[in-house]
Amino acid sequence: MQNWKQCDTILLDMDGTLLDLRFDNYFWCELVPLKYAEKNKITRAEAKKVLVPLFKQMEGRIEWYCLDYWTQTLDLNIAELKAVVADQISILPYVMDFLTTLQHSQKQVVLVTNAHQDSLRLKMKKTGLQSFFDAIICSHDFGVAKEHPLFWKAFHQKIQFNKSTTLMIDDSLAVLKAAKQFGVGQLIAISQPDSQQPPKTIEGYCTIKNFEALL
Ligand SMILES: [Mg+2]
Repeated sequence: MQNWKQCDTILLDMDGTLLDLRFDNYFWCELVPLKYAEKNKITRAEAKKVLVPLFKQMEGRIEWYCLDYWTQTLDLNIAELKAVVADQISILPYVMDFLTTLQHSQKQVVLVTNAHQDSLRLKMKKTGLQSFFDAIICSHDFGVAKEHPLFWKAFHQKIQFNKSTTLMIDDSLAVLKAAKQFGVGQLIAISQPDSQQPPKTIEGYCTIKNFEALL
């Protein structure tokens, strides 16, 4: 394990890192196809045939994370639909212990998410995690996703941090790659972002299944 304790800034992703990706996977892979099928009077399998390529096309782009975009494109109220199933939002194992440890350190702790503002608000309200962060950064405020080099430029202008003594923890390899290219000194990948799926094999990055490894 890297000597992350020497870092003075910790950048944490939200979905799949702090919060169980089960919620988002259920929402986009099950609930949205179901609602889309009902609305368009087609079967769920037919709905998935339409939706999967649409989702694929937007992967890694800011639109992929934008609830307004999907509300318009699918003609379904996505924010409202999320609020209905919000009880299924949950925190991943050992996250509270890790955040509590960080709270008692002198480190700058920043939540850095691609989640849309409405989704972020809903998730903070449900989990109460906001008090653990010195800052909460939503990539939509910059108009580019964390996967993009321009995000890192804009983010670094807003939040001061020393790249070489900063740790980023994320479940997205595309995001970790962008952080690495920008010069973030330490990177850790989460291999089990969805508690209902087996851990993924990740190559090229220091990997943890969950935060127990950092306690
Ligand atoms: Mg994530």
